[in-house]
Amino acid sequence: MTDVTFAALGLAEPILRALAGENYSTPTPIQAKAIPVLLAGRDLLGIAQTGTGKTAAFAIPMLQKLSVGHVPPDSKQARGLILAPTRELAVQIEQSLRTYGRHLNLRMAVILGGVNQSGQVRTMARGVDILVATPGRLLDLVQQKHVRLDAVQVFVVDEADRMLDMGFIRDVRKLVAMLPRRRQSMLFSATMPEDIASLSREMMNAPERIEVAPQGRTADRIVQMLYHVPMPQKRQLLSKLLEDVALNRVIVFTRTKHGANRVAEHLSKTGVAAEAIHGNKSQNARQRALDLFKSGKARVLVATDIAARGIDIDHITHVVNFELPNEPESYVHRIGRTARAGGDGVAISFCDPTERGYLRDIERLTRNKIEVLAHELPELPPEQASQQGLRPAQNHSRGNHNPHKPQQKGGHSDHNPHAPKKRGGSRPYWSKERRTQRGSRPGGPAKATNTAS
Ligand code: AMP
Repeated sequence: MTDVTFAALGLAEPILRALAGENYSTPTPIQAKAIPVLLAGRDLLGIAQTGTGKTAAFAIPMLQKLSVGHVPPDSKQARGLILAPTRELAVQIEQSLRTYGRHLNLRMAVILGGVNQSGQVRTMARGVDILVATPGRLLDLVQQKHVRLDAVQVFVVDEADRMLDMGFIRDVRKLVAMLPRRRQSMLFSATMPEDIASLSREMMNAPERIEVAPQGRTADRIVQMLYHVPMPQKRQLLSKLLEDVALNRVIVFTRTKHGANRVAEHLSKTGVAAEAIHGNKSQNARQRALDLFKSGKARVLVATDIAARGIDIDHITHVVNFELPNEPESYVHRIGRTARAGGDGVAISFCDPTERGYLRDIERLTRNKIEVLAHELPELPPEQASQQGLRPAQNHSRGNHNPHKPQQKGGHSDHNPHAPKKRGGSRPYWSKERRTQRGSRPGGPAKATNTAS
């Protein structure tokens, strides 16, 4: 957060009122930097991760510009256009526009693939002030002559690096070529690979460059930790961690769609309300899963990287990397789901011996050695351990072969002597602040997850 106020940035009263209604007291750093530049009509290149407040940074000036001296759009036209890589992100951006623009009289619409186009065609027949779209479906509707791009005055490409990962850059370029030359443009991206740098040069005119978090650096407010745990024990460890009610709103990441389903099923069977979200699910099923999670009816959302991209849900307490991502940048995106909007958060990763290379890549990119915790799960039987390439007791508390044997209370000498020390107390430090919530759990507080001392 910053010292400036939204009023000092020159925003109109109806927008200030909407922001006050959202309890946004001060602009985030990217907002403080970007809003004046955009209100002055300049183009903008924003290097920022999600969670920095970048949506409001582009949405607010866009709303202001398009509401001053409002000229209604003609049929099929849009006056502002925002491209987003995923359907979920597009829906969220539109929701943010509606929130910040609630006291303005602007028409908005969202166009995305995976659903029937007829509703979108009907909405566009009247024209809209701001259109949020995924590139493929928009191109399709433009080619079918249901949408015209000749009145676009403000244009945004959000999460451009993810557009590139998902193979949408050609579609984006085709759309850019259809826009009027006189317009204001912005491009936001968490990273700046060469393809994105060249797209930004093509589509913008002397843009102001604003970078809020250095590339590859993970947000400072996220406590990161890691368990070395073989794959066959990951579900058990996840269930164990979830005994702690401090893990109140949790996103669990898996590498595959199949894996996401399996983890969600396992959690549901063990009485933890969980939903899976991934690309094999219909748009409606994905939205339903998100809504259940947002409303708190599902405590855990199990997601693959692409499905989770851009998901903007406040107060996610923990991100669990059930499997480490094979691209280190995804780790940064994943853990950025927590600690949003000035809050703090915890990211817990599970690393199987086969994933050590991914861990090295992540630590190299983020220039941060993730703190390793030891867990209390019983050792794998020797034959399974050797299949896993584990030396006995490498990752486990020692002397605990019998899973039914009660754990020694405070038996810390039993644990991996190389694991780092806990920061005080017998409970993991990251759940200490939430101790009071634990007592309210029926059946008494959950057993503390062990960390070695
Ligand atoms: P974004 O980076 O755009 O995905 O935004 C991350 C989160 O921050 C969203 O949940 C916003 O509602 C919230 N947010 C954005 N700007 C502010 C602000 N100035 N004060 C408080 N919360 C904000």
